[in-house]
This record gives sequence, structure tokens and C-alpha cells, in this order.
Amino acid sequence: METSSIQDILTSAGLRKTQPRVTVLHTLLSAGIPLSCDQIAEHIGPDSPNRVTVYRTIETLVSAGVVHQAYLQDRTWMYELGHRCSEHQCHPHFTCTRCGNTSCMPGVEVPMPTGPVNGYRISHQRVQWEGLCPDCESQSEHIPLASPRDP
Ligand SMILES: [Zn+2]
Ligand SMILES: [Zn+2]
Ligand SMILES: [Zn+2]
Repeated sequence: METSSIQDILTSAGLRKTQPRVTVLHTLLSAGIPLSCDQIAEHIGPDSPNRVTVYRTIETLVSAGVVHQAYLQDRTWMYELGHRCSEHQCHPHFTCTRCGNTSCMPGVEVPMPTGPVNGYRISHQRVQWEGLCPDCESQSEHIPLASPRDP
């Protein structure tokens, strides 16, 4: 079942079905979270094609629009399947400034400028949010704040 949807993804992108492409797509699909190239190779395990092949495969899938660059983490791109993004907008990503975790926010659309901005025509929008995640938010409520009543 999963293999047939990977086949569909490759067919609709006009890409030939090769073993590394299938393996990389399957890894991203089953992980369900963005992964770096190294993480993809780690997830595949001992049967992984060599790193160069993994990198080239991802480059091909990115230029075909099948895989998206989700966000940068420690100067490394994190990749995910583009199936939860619309044509002109990737779903936003939220990075918690306290714990550093980044979460996907699929289904959230941010209004995009409809016309050119200062003469620049916008074709795609990638939104990166920062703030406190629910876990850190609830923890910060339990941290006793300095109160004027107890010096
Ligand atoms: Zn995207
Ligand atoms: Zn957090
Ligand atoms: Zn995402």
C-alpha cells in the first residue's frame, strides 16, 4: 500500500522508480517528521545506499518538488515530503526558543501577498515561527516567579 503511494509520488513528479528514491521516500514517509540527510541514512540502516547516493537522491527529489527543505537546524537542512504543503506555501514550522524543538504545523495557512512587493514577485512562502511550545509554556507556569511578598 505504501509502496503504491510512493510509486504515485514518483509517477506524478515524472521521476523513474529507482531503489534509492523509493528507499528515501519510504524513510521520510514512515518517519513522519523532517530528517537531515544523515538521519535519513541512519534510519535506512546498514542497507543504506552510500551517503553520496543519499545526498544526490535527495537533491533530485527536492528539484522535482517531491521533497521540501523544511527548515535549517544547526546549519543543516531538514527534509520532508511535500504532500502536506500547498503549491505556493509550505506549512509553517515552529521552533521553541526554550527547548529548541521544531514542530510541523500542517493545515495552517498564513495570508500571502497577492501582488508584487516593492516590485518583487512572490511565488512561494515558507513561514518560520518562534516562541514557547506547550510543554515549555506549562513548565514556565510552575516555575515560581519572584514575588514581592517573599523577599
Ligand atoms: Zn513544503
Ligand atoms: Zn519547548
Ligand atoms: Zn514540516
